[in-house]
Amino acid sequence: MSEQNYDLIVIGGGPGGYVASIRAAQLGLNVACVEKEAVLGGTCLRVGCIPSKSLLESSHHYDTARRHMAEHGVSVGDVGMDVAAMLKRKEGIVAGLGRGIDGLLKKNKVARILGSGRLAGEGRVIVSGAEGETALSAKNIIIATGSKPAALPGVELDGDRIGTSTEALAYPEVPQHLVVIGAGVIGLELGTVWSRLGAKVTVLEYLDRILPGTDSEIALEAKKIFNKQGFEFRLGAKVTSAAASGGVCRVEAGEMDPIECDRVLLAVGRTPNTDGLGLENVGIQTDRRGCIPVNDSFATSAPGIHAIGDVIPGPMLAHKAEEDGVACVEKIVTGTGHVDYNLVPAVCYTDPEIASVGRTEDQLQEAGVDYRKGVFHFRANGRAHTVGRAEGRVKVLADAKNDRALGVHILGPNAGDLIAEAAVGMAFGASAEDLARACHAHPTLSEALKEAALAVDGRAIHS
Ligand code: NAD
Repeated sequence: MSEQNYDLIVIGGGPGGYVASIRAAQLGLNVACVEKEAVLGGTCLRVGCIPSKSLLESSHHYDTARRHMAEHGVSVGDVGMDVAAMLKRKEGIVAGLGRGIDGLLKKNKVARILGSGRLAGEGRVIVSGAEGETALSAKNIIIATGSKPAALPGVELDGDRIGTSTEALAYPEVPQHLVVIGAGVIGLELGTVWSRLGAKVTVLEYLDRILPGTDSEIALEAKKIFNKQGFEFRLGAKVTSAAASGGVCRVEAGEMDPIECDRVLLAVGRTPNTDGLGLENVGIQTDRRGCIPVNDSFATSAPGIHAIGDVIPGPMLAHKAEEDGVACVEKIVTGTGHVDYNLVPAVCYTDPEIASVGRTEDQLQEAGVDYRKGVFHFRANGRAHTVGRAEGRVKVLADAKNDRALGVHILGPNAGDLIAEAAVGMAFGASAEDLARACHAHPTLSEALKEAALAVDGRAIHS
């Protein structure tokens, strides 16, 4: 087998891998990006962030037409729904964005190699594709193989009635009763889609709260809003089995009466993709969560082999993987590169959205940090009323000694976009006073953040 030589081989064409490939090409490297799927973009583009946001948008329009148009004085008559059209729109968006990434790789002269890559020794990768095997070599290799939905013992995934997010992004019709296992981000986002389209949604959660990791005060308020939307939560429910027979699913969780439903979505976390990667050929051992350990230069224990994104410890988020990819390549080429893991924003695209950056109030209390807190409710924000979305709040947490912003948490309309202001400010070491003094346009939702920052010092004007 002849061997093709590159400066860098990236295994995986998701947000971590393709972004790393492009950055490396910008820095002058001859790069190969190995991806087994025909569509680049990884889980995020094919069966994750983008398709779920497409369905969230479609279901939002349906919900708006059915329940909110009248309050604006707009009559729409009978509102219909075409799930097939929603799925087709989603698939069109995915295909178009996938072609866009192909174009970006071409433009940057990155070789796109179709097939599964496995490590065959230091500096060597074998790619198995439809046409057989190809050998590649490079001084540096980046593993960016992402993650897959975690399994749960006793839950029999059948790829149809009982499935993961992949199936829940393509149900051919609205379930009558959808049982979601896990009140995390995936369960609540996809639960929102099908609930808005008319499904009864029951969420079974092992913990005594929803959205672990989210500021608990924000999560509690969000739960109340989701309850009003029709979500049924059963907390403290540890699911032990789920099986389907004749189109009926039966889910059991401890002492709870078994639930019968027509669809089950398993969303209890994700596990790194390392199967068949040949880690044993280069002596890399995964940790107890299945992640590849790396140092702060993303270097694994094997010389020249790096890892980024969901396959290493840390939050499993597309934008974190992108930052990893850029920093890893910059470290390889220039010796410097950095990601501030304290300032990775997180967004849950429920209705309303939940977004945060920095530390939660729970974390500050646990660490014994002396902090001050400012809260501002969207019900006192003019723009929120005009858009008919006056639920939720902004909470700013600042260091009691020097006023430095330590955490910003938003539950409310467009929270996912609003959080960017806090993320940028905090990246520059902003104090609550800085956020509060900056002039915010009126009337905008962003004024709620300014007011919450003012509230840290008891100076909010509109509350
Ligand atoms: P998660 O870790 O966010 O939530 C899983 C939930 O399942 C937890 O609350 C956990 O307590 C519960 N659980 C575990 N075992 C259980 C059992 N036996 N019975 C009942 N409940 C049980 O996981 P997820 O929602 O699957 O998301 C996976 C990853 O994907 C996360 O890292 C998430 O950040 C990422 N993701 C992010 C976004 C986004 O940024 N908008 C969207 C989707 C996924």
